[in-house]
Amino acid sequence: MSKESKSKQSAQHEHFMALTLSIAEENKRQGGYGVGAMVVKSGEIIASSDNSIRRTCDPTGHAEVNAIREASQRLNSERLTDCWLYSSYEPCAMCAAAAAWARMKGIVFANRIYDSRNPQSYRVDVTCEAIVNASSPKLEIIPDVLRERGMALMDFRPGERKK
Ligand SMILES: [Zn+2]
Repeated sequence: MSKESKSKQSAQHEHFMALTLSIAEENKRQGGYGVGAMVVKSGEIIASSDNSIRRTCDPTGHAEVNAIREASQRLNSERLTDCWLYSSYEPCAMCAAAAAWARMKGIVFANRIYDSRNPQSYRVDVTCEAIVNASSPKLEIIPDVLRERGMALMDFRPGERKK
């Protein structure tokens, strides 16, 4: 990739990550764990979602799974070829595998699992990279995009539930 198109691409990643982090921040304000995700194809937002675990009492309601599901329905295809997954937080094993099953182009995230500031936060200790390395074909992984802004969300204590 040329230098110019590379910097254009990184500007695009920052643009969509800023929107993804806004979703995560709003999720936190609404009583969620503070995670957001987005599916983008050719510079167009196909789907976006926040983490719905507490709202829907569904342990699989991760923002990334929600966004992938919605994008597949919108594109009427189980294959999200050429789509990027943006996530405020490094996708867990379930979500990274979902992106691989959807044959996505790549995954962009702000914070890594080890950025978590809450030692009690529950997590499945497998990196996104480990899942991608075990899948075929491999997705591109772009970590640390707007990482500093995302750090504010890294305590993983859910926000106050709205009464
Ligand atoms: Zn997940």
